[in-house]
Amino acid sequence: MRVYVESFGCAQNLGEGAAITRSLHAAGHSIAVSPAAADAGVLVTCAVIGPTEARMVRRWSWLAEQLPRVVVTGCLVPLRADLLTGPALARTTIVPIRDQSRIPSLLGPPSAGPPAPLKDTVSSIPPPVIEEIPIAQGCTSACSYCFSRLARGRLESRSIPALVEAVQAALHRGAAEIRLSSLDTSAWGGDLEGSPTLPDLLDAVGGIPGSHKVRLGMLSPQTLEPIAGRTLQALERGRYFRFLHLPVQSGSDDVLGAMRRGYDVNTFRGLVRDARARLPDLTLATDIIVGFPTEGDRDFLASLDLVEEIEPEIVNVTRFSPRPMTPAARLPPLGPRIAKRRSRALAALRMRIARRHFERWIGRASNALTVERGPGPSTVARLPNYLAVVLPGALPLGSEIPVVIEGARSTYLVGRTEAAPSLRDVA
Ligand code: SF4
Repeated sequence: MRVYVESFGCAQNLGEGAAITRSLHAAGHSIAVSPAAADAGVLVTCAVIGPTEARMVRRWSWLAEQLPRVVVTGCLVPLRADLLTGPALARTTIVPIRDQSRIPSLLGPPSAGPPAPLKDTVSSIPPPVIEEIPIAQGCTSACSYCFSRLARGRLESRSIPALVEAVQAALHRGAAEIRLSSLDTSAWGGDLEGSPTLPDLLDAVGGIPGSHKVRLGMLSPQTLEPIAGRTLQALERGRYFRFLHLPVQSGSDDVLGAMRRGYDVNTFRGLVRDARARLPDLTLATDIIVGFPTEGDRDFLASLDLVEEIEPEIVNVTRFSPRPMTPAARLPPLGPRIAKRRSRALAALRMRIARRHFERWIGRASNALTVERGPGPSTVARLPNYLAVVLPGALPLGSEIPVVIEGARSTYLVGRTEAAPSLRDVA
């Protein structure tokens, strides 16, 4: 059977979509580049905010019009499958996240003969040198606005041997950038025998030989704090990108309390201070929710002040979206204009800060790992602190090369390989 796979959302969801695609191919199915070239489709949904959920329902109904069979999985499934209605439902199979390994057999016998090679047909797997490795399902926190934890349930960590094997298999497939992902990577291990913690996993994965680099996925200040020292020590190894994705969500302790985040702003400050002290050139990414129902003007100003003070390289701004079955959905909402105005103000601030950070790199030389194709004939490479640098030409992927930074844009750097003539020389 020719199967089209489409995935949306966070790193974990994309990683699961890639794993589904590989398992379909291993079971003898061919992977189609488009619905038009497929006999069936798999939709890996995201339901983190309302607008995305609505988009997933539209995407499903469109796919179900094109294809005789559609499998729907991902975060929409456990709690919002009732949104999928109408005659197309007869052609739809709903598969819970934890049953995704059954998808190949659910689709029935593969076509006769060997499946087409993955590299010829794949559209929805990330470029071959980047692989997402989900390290756990679920979460241990109970943030009041969060739908993902309701969709993914209690924490279920994969064991160290299973994860070491998964990383080795990815390296064998040609991966050069490994992304360890989860709803909260610093919660990993709490459900396993002997309660290993994230640093134990990082030490094990960090010890796998090769020329690859590893990016650690999203952590929560609440679960990171008790293990911060050893986690930062593990990230000091050259194997890891000096990158920390640590969502703070608000600069106001009152709002953090209403969000039930389980930490205060000073805890976040302390973690950032320690991380920057141990990891030079660290790239800090954080998330801020604006428009949370209890967020007053002073609370929002506190978020702006915190971003101005901490100067994260990356700030992901999300407007609050009430999610069904969450405590925060029962709070009286703020007007949409307030959230819009606040997200614009925060977006303008983060762009200014990003540009300041990036411009400091102009003229510097560094090694960088080439990981994906950029716009036009260009290549995206990652510096040791995970900043993206766009290089001219289609360079071999998966190689560590010396580069010189020549320019800065709001979300990436521009550079050349050290051997190449500088823009000034060719100007
Ligand atoms: S840490 Fe909070 S926001 Fe993140 S997945 Fe867990 S419950 Fe949701």
